[in-house]
Amino acid sequence: MSEPLPLPAIHASHAGTWLRDSNGSTRGCSKGEAVMAAADTPLLLLNAPLVANRLGYPDLSGLDLLELFAFVRPARFCVPTPKGLAEALDLAVPDSDDEVPLLLQLAAARMMEICESTDWAERDGAWSTLQSLARLRWPWAQVLAPHVKRPERAEKWLFSRLPEWEEAPERAQPQQVALDELAVEGHLERLTGEGAEKREGQRLFARGAGSVFAPRAEDKRPHVLLAQAGTGIGKTLGYLAPASLWAERSGGTVWVSTYTKNLQRQLRRESTRAWPERRADGSRPVVVRKGRENYLCLLNLEDALQGGFSGRPAILAQLVARWAAYSQDGDMIGGDLPGWLGTLFRKRGIAALTDQRGECVYAGCPHYRKCFIERSARASAQADLVIANHALVMVNAARGRDHAQRPTRIVFDEGHHVFDAADSTFSAALTGQETIELRRWIVGPERGNRGRRRGLAARLADIASYDEAGGEAIEAAVAAAQDLPSDGWLVRLADGTPMGPLEALLAQVRATTYARDESGQEAGYGIETETASLPGELVEAAGTAAQALAAIRTPLMKLAGRLEAVMADAPDWLDGQGRARIEGARHSLAWRIDLLAAWEALLSRLGGPADPDFVDWLAVDRNDAREFDIGLHRHWVDPMKPFAHTVLEPAHGVMLTSATLTDRGEEGPDWPHAVARSGATHIEIAPRTSQSDSPFDYANRAEVLIVTDIRRGDIAGLAGAYARLIEASDGGVLGLFTAIRRMRAVHGRIADRLARAGLPLYAQHVDPIDTGTLTDIFRDDPRASLLGTDALRDEPGGAKGHDDRIIRARLAQAFGRLIRTREDAGHFVVLSSAFPSRFLSAFPDGTPVIRLTLAEALQRVAHGVHAVTGSETESA
Ligand code: SF4
Repeated sequence: MSEPLPLPAIHASHAGTWLRDSNGSTRGCSKGEAVMAAADTPLLLLNAPLVANRLGYPDLSGLDLLELFAFVRPARFCVPTPKGLAEALDLAVPDSDDEVPLLLQLAAARMMEICESTDWAERDGAWSTLQSLARLRWPWAQVLAPHVKRPERAEKWLFSRLPEWEEAPERAQPQQVALDELAVEGHLERLTGEGAEKREGQRLFARGAGSVFAPRAEDKRPHVLLAQAGTGIGKTLGYLAPASLWAERSGGTVWVSTYTKNLQRQLRRESTRAWPERRADGSRPVVVRKGRENYLCLLNLEDALQGGFSGRPAILAQLVARWAAYSQDGDMIGGDLPGWLGTLFRKRGIAALTDQRGECVYAGCPHYRKCFIERSARASAQADLVIANHALVMVNAARGRDHAQRPTRIVFDEGHHVFDAADSTFSAALTGQETIELRRWIVGPERGNRGRRRGLAARLADIASYDEAGGEAIEAAVAAAQDLPSDGWLVRLADGTPMGPLEALLAQVRATTYARDESGQEAGYGIETETASLPGELVEAAGTAAQALAAIRTPLMKLAGRLEAVMADAPDWLDGQGRARIEGARHSLAWRIDLLAAWEALLSRLGGPADPDFVDWLAVDRNDAREFDIGLHRHWVDPMKPFAHTVLEPAHGVMLTSATLTDRGEEGPDWPHAVARSGATHIEIAPRTSQSDSPFDYANRAEVLIVTDIRRGDIAGLAGAYARLIEASDGGVLGLFTAIRRMRAVHGRIADRLARAGLPLYAQHVDPIDTGTLTDIFRDDPRASLLGTDALRDEPGGAKGHDDRIIRARLAQAFGRLIRTREDAGHFVVLSSAFPSRFLSAFPDGTPVIRLTLAEALQRVAHGVHAVTGSETESA
């Protein structure tokens, strides 16, 4: 093993701070001393924002090992903790906090060694990127320079090195095949493998799942199945078996839609039993598909690398370029770009590199043939299985570019989230941020902003000069868009100097929302108010704003008509690429026109009777008392109505499955409600339902403990209870709160004490780490505990208020995280004495429920499930 890198290193946890000199002695020190040392000389550290947070010194910088890792090992996984870093580099995991500074020196030395080795897998491009990073004064550049050899031949730059995608022929329509139950069972057996334990529940589940693939008997009447399956049934393979059999026999594509990244990973893994990694022709039968805003846009990256970004964001762009060369699929959110990379740079750099504003110029882009987004769209058109998420499936159905690519056989796993996903997909928000985005899309970047983003006029310059009416429509739209909010709108609203009709409306929205606010104690977070009894000034401002929006929509509609005409009678100079670009423009025009119409509809209702289909409200969004968006919001009372028409109706077979599809009231599972929430009734379909109970022995493997002696509002008592429970179980506790404020207060009181006992405690909204990475950390370290929120959001209008059903559903989902395998055992502790019995049906049948004091609960937790007896037991 190499010698530690002789540079001073620092580590700060909730338990204290440790400094190690370059020449090798580690000592504990005060926060003040640490800050002084960091100001003197760049220190080796791990996750600078986290260390800064622990030291209470936001400007801290240094030689961050995570940045070095992102350079040396782009697109590789690393949990951003001392343990995670040690494991990623094959070093010994430190036993205690005071060993961490030495680990940092060893890890740095190890990475230098990798750079020097002849088999460094990510050498290509490293030297050139390092030269750019040196010009940007990246702190590591000088340290690294002697270890990264100049290549003999000049390195190709990223954009010429990435492979091009191939245009594949369109896939034929799937053949109509029916799967008989025996065939499905046989296929399931092949997938689970010889000798695997036969699971009756899984077999029945798979048979049921096969039924959704049958040919449709009538237009607009898909097969719909609601399948509730308890944890441990093996439902993933249960539906992959008929899905893969159908794909093989019909030549069609099945979409499986999930809500969490975790299930996507699991699906990717399990699908390898049914499909090879690649087909004989090199194409992939299984593809993960995300929304376009998840992927790196190469044009934005090129812009950032060529001066569009400066300072720290420019360094981020270089590290992203390193990653892009080695990434599997260019997915920046939840793909192989480490989730922590964005938080190291604090600014919203990652988002700026994706294609969030729909400004893609398609075939007009120099990187079109290498574009990650285009590649993924093409791959999914050829796939047997597309793994996607609920939001994407819905957006694709509502405004997908290509009708032929719309999913027709869909399995919604984690089906209990479909309602929420529909709620946000089919909602409308007329806010400052949304309108400014529309302005940029039409007008282009504001004066003084560098960058290659272009407005409508530049994107369609050739059409404007060829077709006079089209050119006039573009000019009219650009002129009308000047009425939309522009940069600096938030400041103008706060100063009372709004510009233009939309800013004037937002100023009224802001004033009314503040005037009616009674939240008081939660000051600093978002505030909302309903649209009933609005002041006359606001209603008047809404009328003027609606006219301004209509004045933008009219020329856009005219332009859409001209583009259609040009395409119908295409001029000679319009080649394939030009046509693709116009197709792209038509598509994005169509959904902007719909968006404007939805905004106008929302405004037209203000001051009049409410539309019974919608819930509308005004909101000021704030984060730590800082306003970041203001506007009007509209949600469907029943978002499954648009879901039914856009997703269900065109489909042939749809299955919704989850462990918690139905509410379990005191009378058992409530199927009528689950059917209503599937949307099927809106298209007059009676779905089939099925129920498979979990094979787990909850009666002997789990206990629900309701602690009765912590008073409501007693934060000190609650924090003490948390600390003792975490100590008694030796970490591994997941704590869920319904309010961020309470969670922060508890974390603040106990994190130091627990850290001193070697029990790290992380918290959402406290640690500067993204949620996905926090979950990775929690899973990776059995002694770590994690606090998070499961906020039960108050819906205006009370139509979906957090009634018993929602609370039971949240409890059932939270409980589901406790026991994942037959071997798991654990306690579900409720720290609320006022926990009513009517919620107990949320837990699986037979789970013992015990009301007891904190002292008794601690005993049970310390001894494991069922080691202690004597308390009064109820049964769920
Ligand atoms: S084709 Fe569009 S999304 Fe892809 S790199 Fe070019 S501009 Fe970005």
